Amino acid sequence: MTAAARIIFATRNPAKLAELRRILAAARVGVEVGDLEEFPEMPEVAETGRTFAENALLKARAVAAFTGLPAIADDSGLCVDALNGMPGVLSARWSGPHGDDVANLRLVLGQIGDVPAGQRGAHFACAAALVLPSGAEHVTEGTVQGWLTDSPRGSNGFGYDPIFVPDGSELTTAQMSAEEKDKISHRGKALRALAPVVAAVLGG
Ligand code: IMP
Repeated sequence: MTAAARIIFATRNPAKLAELRRILAAARVGVEVGDLEEFPEMPEVAETGRTFAENALLKARAVAAFTGLPAIADDSGLCVDALNGMPGVLSARWSGPHGDDVANLRLVLGQIGDVPAGQRGAHFACAAALVLPSGAEHVTEGTVQGWLTDSPRGSNGFGYDPIFVPDGSELTTAQMSAEEKDKISHRGKALRALAPVVAAVLGG
């Protein structure tokens, strides 16, 4: 019996690692997945791409080069119709400091304050990239369409979840359980689409 292939997910977030492991296991892809906690000396990768796919590729390429192992990375964000698709790749730093979720959400709410119901469409988007040490690259994408409320609702999730209602739901994604959100989420879709690619190239 040969050892299972190993792959590194470019994250230090245990919830993201667990989600990818669940998705690969559900797709019966027999690979071991580690994350950047195993590589504390791995430098941060600047997310300078203009698209989610470019950023996911930048991160996966850097991790594959640093570790010598196949790497997966994702990049995601919120795209608001009334803001011409912004904040997009700038979602995490929309108000300035990286990852200030409350300030980012307030800024978007303020920017669309005059936009009437019916014109408050938005979607979450995610790109997932697999990069092999040989240089081979694969990208998959997932989106979830919805609209933005005029005030936050719910306390689950993170980021813009308290103001995002997916089409077909009456709840914001911050009012859903993690399992409910996983099923429809942009990240879930992109990672599920990557599972057969991982199986094909790593023989899992
Ligand atoms: P990253 O892909 O981890 O860099 O996330 C980018 C940013 O997009 C996050 O900081 C959030 O502001 C936003 N974002 C991405 N996915 C979600 C989500 O599922 N819910 C809420 N906000 C999200």
